[in-house]
Amino acid sequence: MKFLCVDCDAQMVFEQRRLPGDGTLVAAFKCPACGRVIALLTNPMETQLVASLGVEIGGRKLPEQPFELVRRAVADGREDAFDDRPKSTSPTWDEAAQRRLGNVPSFARGMVKRIYSDYALQHGIAVITPEVMDAARRDLGLEGM
Ligand SMILES: [Zn+2]
Repeated sequence: MKFLCVDCDAQMVFEQRRLPGDGTLVAAFKCPACGRVIALLTNPMETQLVASLGVEIGGRKLPEQPFELVRRAVADGREDAFDDRPKSTSPTWDEAAQRRLGNVPSFARGMVKRIYSDYALQHGIAVITPEVMDAARRDLGLEGM
């Protein structure tokens, strides 16, 4: 991100930056030719957007901001986090298969569920059982999972 002084057609130089505790960002840029100073003020949401895009302001990278939504989805292990297909096309899981899926660490469960669901769909399997899971692991080379 760079700022030009239009009058001088000169690239403005980063002068100072303040990161107040409330998440707002103030960055000042000065034209080396005429001395004009402009300031960039962002609200907390904009500051986080800029930071999450890895944009550098004034030649220094902003401190990393947590990517809240993604982190929350991973932490909660929402089972359909990776499943964006309509529910009607998803195969059903019998009780034993559901129990086994429950043993998968929650952060990986959505992904694992999707792998088995895709396998079942590709093989025309409507109900996923532990036997189907075994077959999928064999066929897909997922013995370690
Ligand atoms: Zn200027």
